[in-house]
Amino acid sequence: MEPGYDSRFCKAEGCNEVRNMYWFTDYCEKFHRCREPDCKRMRKPMSYYCDDHCCLFVGCNGFRLTKLGCTYNHCKLHACEIIGCFSEKITNLDYCYDHKCISENCINFRPSRGKGYCANCIKKVIVAMTVIMKRLKVGHDMVGLVQGSIMRTFMSN
Ligand SMILES: [Zn+2]
Ligand SMILES: [Zn+2]
Ligand SMILES: [Zn+2]
Ligand SMILES: [Zn+2]
Ligand SMILES: [Zn+2]
Repeated sequence: MEPGYDSRFCKAEGCNEVRNMYWFTDYCEKFHRCREPDCKRMRKPMSYYCDDHCCLFVGCNGFRLTKLGCTYNHCKLHACEIIGCFSEKITNLDYCYDHKCISENCINFRPSRGKGYCANCIKKVIVAMTVIMKRLKVGHDMVGLVQGSIMRTFMSN
């Protein structure tokens, strides 16, 4: 312990506030203890929360979202809305790049993280393929097979 150390005061450098004895934290309530009710750690600079509880979005001071007992990496504003997804939302959308249709102009949700088209875009591909196959006079069975294979390719994980 450094000379002149007074355990009543907040440990943060240059802080003259008394620490919050009630919470057994080293920091004051006013400026330095993380605002998460049970957290004893020091806030990140320019934030209300510590590293564990502050949204990872650059410059955001939001509190990390908790859903079903799970703490996410981002606040309500920045977390992908899909339960169990820890990625950051795309600006102005409700989900992350892993959950958006990979077709550039489409903002629909995609159900699988794998191949990545939404149901609408898959339908469009199937319609377009079917038109081409009909024009080429492809047999009915073959058309069905191709349609099925497109579905499987783009909707599987
Ligand atoms: Zn303090
Ligand atoms: Zn905290
Ligand atoms: Zn945030
Ligand atoms: Zn996501
Ligand atoms: Zn789409």
